[in-house]
Amino acid sequence: MREIVYSTVKLKPEQRKMIEAYAEVYEAGEHGPEPKLENVNILICGPVTTVELNAMKNLRFIQCVYAGVDALPWGKIPANVVVASNAGSNADSVAEHAFALLLAAAKRILFFDSRVRDGDFEIVGESRMLHGRRLCVLGMGAIGSRIAEIAKAFKMHVVGYGRSLRSVAAVDEFYTQDSIDAALRGSDYAVVALPLTKHTQGLINYERLGLMRRDGILVNIGRAPIIVKNDLIRFLRENPSFTYATDVWWNIQNPSQDSDVYSLPNVVSTPWVAGAASSRETYEEMLRLAVENVVRYLRGEKPLNIVRHEDYR
Ligand code: NDP
Repeated sequence: MREIVYSTVKLKPEQRKMIEAYAEVYEAGEHGPEPKLENVNILICGPVTTVELNAMKNLRFIQCVYAGVDALPWGKIPANVVVASNAGSNADSVAEHAFALLLAAAKRILFFDSRVRDGDFEIVGESRMLHGRRLCVLGMGAIGSRIAEIAKAFKMHVVGYGRSLRSVAAVDEFYTQDSIDAALRGSDYAVVALPLTKHTQGLINYERLGLMRRDGILVNIGRAPIIVKNDLIRFLRENPSFTYATDVWWNIQNPSQDSDVYSLPNVVSTPWVAGAASSRETYEEMLRLAVENVVRYLRGEKPLNIVRHEDYR
């Protein structure tokens, strides 16, 4: 019997064909027969509901289109189901965005832009250099490694922190899991490029923020809950020279609940656009890589980016 693949995201005709060489394919919202969810063996998804997952009694493989899999309903995914993230699929886009945030904050682009619009060309305050400064990259996966490479082009002192290291050349120092304090201590800048897991939630608290320089910049393109929100607000209020530059939020469904962060003067932000949200090119690449990984699985090969269940439950 052929495998049944169900995709909650729209596939391109040629991508569908690639999968149809090995399996029957159904897409959510398409005309024609819907599969019985209990027959689905392989799920390609963005968001998926617990009701849908509960019904998929014969599920064996989940391919997430996103790099982060923290939003999956982990409590409903049996331990024998292989889950693959799409890590690395948008690393260039997200690393570029991290630098856009870092440079905007260091060079005070938004500050000057609003003044110039009012015809005010007075030069006040000081911008900061990246050259020679200590940048701590938290999470040395696909995005973190790309950030480290770009930082090297700026001649920064790059400090990596993570569970594993892909490129020794990209960092000047590397710290593993137990040594986050040593990695952050004295940093001018830090970028959060970690996944949100049970181990990273709340990793950056008030004390750890205090390890960075008081005029530091913390960029977050990972996930908001890696930082303790109330600790961050307190730290930003107490240290007006410190900047938080972020793309990610705690309450994306109801963003006004994060106004206590985005309304602070020392916050620079974008509405979660670093990955695919504002770039069709990036989304198409993500979809392409997700489909390739499903084909890999259907051919009996080991898929890339298999996620550890124990990180999420
Ligand atoms: P990767 O899986 O390539 O990188 C994640 C890295 O973090 C890996 O090196 C991993 O180590 C490491 N890591 C995992 N857990 C820990 C831990 N407890 N302590 C230290 N290091 C840890 O993924 P990407 O780089 O592609 O993406 C990273 C995250 O960025 C995503 O999970 C997502 O949350 C976020 N993201 C945000 C986007 C946005 O739009 N703002 C878009 C895309 C991603 P190991 O290799 O050993 O597992």
